Amino acid sequence: MTNFIVKKVAVLGAGVMGAQIAAHCINAKVPVVLFDLPGKEGTPKNGIVLKAIEGLKKLSPAPLGNKEHAALIEVANYEDDLAKLAECDLIIEAIAERMDWKHDLYKKVAPHIAPNAIFASNTSGLSITKLSEGFDADLKSRYCGVHFFNPPRYMHLVEIIPTEFTKPEISDQLEGFLTSTLGKGVVRAKDTPNFIANRVGVFGILAIVHEAEKFGLSVDVVDDLTGAKLGRAKSGTFRTADVVGLDTMGHVIKTMQDYLPNDPFAAVYKTPAVLAKLVEKGALGQKTGAGFYKKV
Ligand code: NAD
Repeated sequence: MTNFIVKKVAVLGAGVMGAQIAAHCINAKVPVVLFDLPGKEGTPKNGIVLKAIEGLKKLSPAPLGNKEHAALIEVANYEDDLAKLAECDLIIEAIAERMDWKHDLYKKVAPHIAPNAIFASNTSGLSITKLSEGFDADLKSRYCGVHFFNPPRYMHLVEIIPTEFTKPEISDQLEGFLTSTLGKGVVRAKDTPNFIANRVGVFGILAIVHEAEKFGLSVDVVDDLTGAKLGRAKSGTFRTADVVGLDTMGHVIKTMQDYLPNDPFAAVYKTPAVLAKLVEKGALGQKTGAGFYKKV
């Protein structure tokens, strides 16, 4: 596999995935610039990012637990710090799963990306080709999907999703970095809705949630049956949804609805009423402290 030395990574989005991808990189001793929106008025600048950095400290071994690791991470925002992108040879976008928001951000960041850098999205399943629509031919040839799984420090699999425009050496270089530096196992997926793992995984989650609604099964019973009883104590269906984030789960389901309306399993791709209600209340799972589990 091509030996591509990544000297610095930019991660765009310091949420559930972005913060953890950043943590994983710095634990592999790769410096990271972690971007997010500037802090809201009345809170310290970079408030969102600082909160995510606090979250990194909970990981083991704690990435900021020693000076060496702390020196490897820099926090930044899109208003003041875009020039820092020019120093990065890999840019991983991990903002919310909305095509329109990702496009808005891409317009801002594209002019600052270095000429040979790889640009990749951690989208769960949006079309990589559509995401790259506003780019010139050169940036399109350096853009692809890089789908880490949650939690990225522990989940071995990463999907790489090239488009018809992605230069083959870009996928090769990215795979080299993911396997050699981050210790991941890579599967290349086609640019189809939700790629491979989420197409299967979200189908499974939805089928279980619909059955639970139909038979009035509690969260605990379902998680016992689909978690502990299968030897996966911490990954029952509802606990997994809370860890993913219920808003993100809703977006991933919507991708199935938008792009697979005539699929033979389309009836399964309904958004469960209970999930929609929780999202409406702002109970988004682990990241807000409440979801299917009140305290997660
Ligand atoms: P999250 O909600 O935890 O974080 C989203 C981040 O996007 C936040 O830091 C927020 O400040 C930022 N953001 C929101 N709106 C923005 C905007 N308009 N412009 C710029 N930044 C904005 O989400 P997440 O779970 O980290 O998901 C990020 C990406 O990773 C999504 O594409 C998601 O589908 C994908 N993903 C998520 C999981 C998972 O289990 N959560 C797994 C794999 C991939």
